[in-house]
Amino acid sequence: LFITAEGGEGAGKTSALSKIYDYLIDNGYDVVMTREPGGIKISEEIRSVILNEKHTEMDGRTEALLYAAARRQHLVEKIVPALEEGKIVLCDRFIDSSLAYQGFARGIGFENILMINKMAIDEYWPDLTLYFRVDPEVGLARIAKDKGREVNRLDQENETFHKKVLQGYDQLTKLYKDRIQVVNANESFESVYSSALLMIEQHLEK
Ligand code: C5P
Ligand code: MG
Repeated sequence: LFITAEGGEGAGKTSALSKIYDYLIDNGYDVVMTREPGGIKISEEIRSVILNEKHTEMDGRTEALLYAAARRQHLVEKIVPALEEGKIVLCDRFIDSSLAYQGFARGIGFENILMINKMAIDEYWPDLTLYFRVDPEVGLARIAKDKGREVNRLDQENETFHKKVLQGYDQLTKLYKDRIQVVNANESFESVYSSALLMIEQHLEK
């Protein structure tokens, strides 16, 4: 079972996912938790190139291709083997991040991003995607308070960019309505976590 978490900055994806991971492990499930871009050595190295705040000259398409390359290696090296062993894979961000950030917000276009990512993922679309939907004001305020957060190139983007990311995700929700479930991430951490967990449990019962 392949589950991905998506959403804008400060939505609480990482925190919710790690609590869900603990819960599933405690309940006897075999679970792998991982993240994008990254998750394995090569892809973490690509991550540090993409997110380096000094790389202000990076072209949008270069960025998109690097995300797709990182995704490909992470998929073949870690996600596919885990799925083949029957594990539940929880992945913090995946293809929808590219569609929302590079496709919509950066304006590279949905079709272009879909094309390179189809090459990267083949048939490995997530079975379930939790979209942690947060208003940019709320998410950015949370990030501002989080002192331990790593600095990255996206910190230079303004609220308009983050609003576009939100619109991008909203469109994806309509397009992929059988796969994407929306969690209201403006709510408290406890309520975000429990709605996300409920969606996973309902999926496991199917
Ligand atoms: O989720 P996380 O905070 O680890 O993501 C790292 C950064 O990469 C974030 O600022 C996120 O917005 C950005 N990102 C992006 N395009 C993607 C995936 C992540 O701009 N396709
Ligand atoms: Mg996170």
